Amino acid sequence: MNVLVINCGSSSLKFQLINSESEQCIAKGLCERIGIDGSMITYSPAGGEKEVTVTPMADHTDAIRLVLEALTNEKTGVVKSLDEIGAVGHRVVHGGEKFSGSVVITDEVMAAVEECNDLAPLHNPANLIGINACKKLMPDTPMVGVFDTAFHQTMPEEAYMYGLPYEYYQKYKIRRYGFHGTSHSYVSKRAAEVLGVPYESLKTIVCHLGNGASVSAVKNGKCVDTSMGLTPLEGLIMGTRSGDIDPAIIEFIAHKENKSIDDVMSILNKKSGVLGLSDNLSSDFRDLEAGYNNGDENAIRTMKTYCYHVAKYIGAYTAAMNGVDVICFTAGIGENAPLVRRLTCGYLGYLGITLDEEANGKRGEDLVISTPDSATKVMVIPTNEELAIARETVRLVG
Ligand code: ADP
Repeated sequence: MNVLVINCGSSSLKFQLINSESEQCIAKGLCERIGIDGSMITYSPAGGEKEVTVTPMADHTDAIRLVLEALTNEKTGVVKSLDEIGAVGHRVVHGGEKFSGSVVITDEVMAAVEECNDLAPLHNPANLIGINACKKLMPDTPMVGVFDTAFHQTMPEEAYMYGLPYEYYQKYKIRRYGFHGTSHSYVSKRAAEVLGVPYESLKTIVCHLGNGASVSAVKNGKCVDTSMGLTPLEGLIMGTRSGDIDPAIIEFIAHKENKSIDDVMSILNKKSGVLGLSDNLSSDFRDLEAGYNNGDENAIRTMKTYCYHVAKYIGAYTAAMNGVDVICFTAGIGENAPLVRRLTCGYLGYLGITLDEEANGKRGEDLVISTPDSATKVMVIPTNEELAIARETVRLVG
């Protein structure tokens, strides 16, 4: 079966068509600037030329229509008709406490996702628009929702509660939810597979280090803690997000700089993280790594602080699981930045970790980057959220 995987943002839409038998991506692409001047679609069929077309897209329905046209195009398409698309898997960011797994999308599910809009006001409405647009154009094709928060729903109460008045949990469901769940689940399972060890018997820490970044503790196949919270702002230092800070800093900056709470929140989300910490050198680790190697003090400070924070979370989650068997690095930075892995593991001598420098320098495949005698294994596992969404879709409607 071919599964269309859709990841819808407020003005963008990423898609992949995946063949569920071969698990290969047949075509993928991106619609950008939806509803804004200069909308464009990028379409890449596997083994074919990438095409970029600037064309108006008034809304997400227009965008999906263009995606379907590209996939079925006589010359460059990869399927003859829409009948060859068996199901659609949608990434949905926030499933609140309602969804602890993927679901077939029904009217009741749509209503329940809408109820979570408060918790993810930037993401969930866009995800719903994407689902509605697909339903309009492919009314008879089954659709599945795969939630970023679902994998983390197994966290125990002590991991998800904050030290706040309990009434806020009761009234507003303020608690830790965690994100990137599809990736944490995929990577932790894949690590067990690669090691040939039962998933249910492993203590794994997954460091998903991309533009957004989070760490999770997965014990015996279940998530027991994760670093992102009510929103994706908590936890690690990220590309432009601050991660953990003393909450009193918000009021302090607001007073000193005569700013509103909204202004400060925007600074914490968009101008902080490694971008802010490096005094605006870059949010991209390729630049930071180059700067670090050239002795740039902004890059050195940023790289050291970033890796120290990752190492602190690894320490915390080792405590949460009473040990750790394997530490996995994934996502843009985790997969591609050997320096980040080396500096982070530099703090983990107490876990008996020795890094294999040669393996750590390699790119691409699932790799063990610790030496054979390392007491805790360290791995690089490339994440594949689209494939995980396609698998979930087939599991539910296949
Ligand atoms: P997201 O999906 O959250 O946007 P990604 O997982 O794609 O993020 O990660 C993007 C980040 O990965 C970039 O900002 C960049 O810092 C980092 N990255 C990508 N390639 C490399 C590389 N070759 N070396 C170091 N960092 C890289």
